[in-house]
Amino acid sequence: MPRPIRVFDTTLRDGEQTPGAALTVDEKVTVARQLARLRVDVIEAGFPAASPGEAEAVRRIAAEVGSAEDAPAIAALARCVPADVTVAAAALQPARRRQLHVFIATSDIHITHKLRSTREEVLERIHACVAQARELVGPGHDVEFSAEDASRSELPFLLEAFEAAVAAGASVINVPDTVGYAEPKEYAALVKQVVKLVGRRVLVSTHCHNDLGLATANTLAGIQAGARQVEVTINGLGERAGNASLEEVVMTLRTRPAQFGGATTNVASEQLTATSRLVSFLTGIPVQPNKSVVGANAFAHESGIHQDGFLKNPLTYEIMTPESVGLSGSTLTLGKLSGRAGFDERLRRLGIHVEPAALDTLYAEAISLADQKKQVTDADLLALAELHADPVPQLVEIEHWATASRQGESSSGNVSLFYEGKTFRAFAGGNGPVDALLKAVDNALEQIISARPQLIDYSVRSIGAGEDAQGEATVKIAAAASEGEAPQIFTGHGLSTNVVEASLRAYLAAVNKLIAEHPAAADAVAAARERRSPSGEPVGAAGTGA
Ligand SMILES: [Zn+2]
Repeated sequence: MPRPIRVFDTTLRDGEQTPGAALTVDEKVTVARQLARLRVDVIEAGFPAASPGEAEAVRRIAAEVGSAEDAPAIAALARCVPADVTVAAAALQPARRRQLHVFIATSDIHITHKLRSTREEVLERIHACVAQARELVGPGHDVEFSAEDASRSELPFLLEAFEAAVAAGASVINVPDTVGYAEPKEYAALVKQVVKLVGRRVLVSTHCHNDLGLATANTLAGIQAGARQVEVTINGLGERAGNASLEEVVMTLRTRPAQFGGATTNVASEQLTATSRLVSFLTGIPVQPNKSVVGANAFAHESGIHQDGFLKNPLTYEIMTPESVGLSGSTLTLGKLSGRAGFDERLRRLGIHVEPAALDTLYAEAISLADQKKQVTDADLLALAELHADPVPQLVEIEHWATASRQGESSSGNVSLFYEGKTFRAFAGGNGPVDALLKAVDNALEQIISARPQLIDYSVRSIGAGEDAQGEATVKIAAAASEGEAPQIFTGHGLSTNVVEASLRAYLAAVNKLIAEHPAAADAVAAARERRSPSGEPVGAAGTGA
């Protein structure tokens, strides 16, 4: 008898709390679309009370991804605070299936020091907020209650809290190991108690953190103890050391179903590699090569003995196939491209989903790349497709750049940027060609936006091998839209056979995301510019700073 496990993906909520993982609203919608293709059961889209942008992201995901007939349910998080529950319920409204997720801490250490409250008050708040959520979410939808820090809560009180939540209308009860403290036996025992308490009509859920590297093990122990929902993230992203990784839990159930009472999920595992890559790309957080299931080396056989055995029979060293997680297994190269149909077929085999409208553009880009380098490899195609999946608005464009760099001397850079029909030129000196060019861009940007972007992370990696390999630059900037506001992080990517060009493109991509999210930052400067130059003449000035 198959035992269905509900896969609740929280990449966009808990995963987004990974330090430096901030996503724009458009990027979140892109990830949600891919999670729907991966066929997770629930997408936790965010924490709407956190900020207006977060509420907007949840609302858009509910409307654009969650309204389709076979779409995953959309979840939103709320503290046990009436205003939070109201905002979360409103954001979820457009979704066909909704899961309103309310939480409050139940451990004494959290109740005393964080909430500065009492157990009695906590029970009252659980009752009130779960009842409010039940009322607002509407019949037929789910209300989930999480007892934050459950694994360090006193058991009789924890069970009392869960009882109160179920009495008030919760249909899912979550048992978070918020601080990653539990070990598998202990966590299984806890889940078993909760399952016994709430019975079959309520779904019990796991939510495990990886502080001791036990998140996946604890989640699986929870399933063995009767949990029917797992809260997981792509690439194991999440607060601190992260959450249980979706790909590890799903592939364990798929590889060893008998150990879990025949547990199965709806996840389309052949979408795992594409999803992992997309999330890594958009968050700018690389996946370690030895990461289970989705790491670059997860299916590489290095030692001679292993290779020999593998070639004689793959089962000697392979417990799951690369195809089952969406790896084509091919590293074949593509000379001059073999027509549009062949191109499309190749993308499909790489697990890349491209909207038909975008296919032509992508094909044209691949053709032009084939003119620049001898061979266009799968790695090149993946990188191009990823760049395409990244919703970057084309606002400020590079018109021209030049840089000079010589041993023992500082470098210089010149750029001209094009924005709203005008050209903005600037010059700067710097410590190396990339530094000089980015500083020149900053100088030009002073005439375009009020925000001052700070470069907080920069890396270049090579796509594939060979001396004509493309470089992919990743840039993270932090910028506050206006003075006094908290800085927000934007990630940009650039791809080119010239790493300086790739770096410049990456920087501009991040800046364009900033301007798109905060158009007022550019409008104010434009208005000031108009005042100085009412005739509308370009005011681009060369030679700021050296
Ligand atoms: Zn968490």
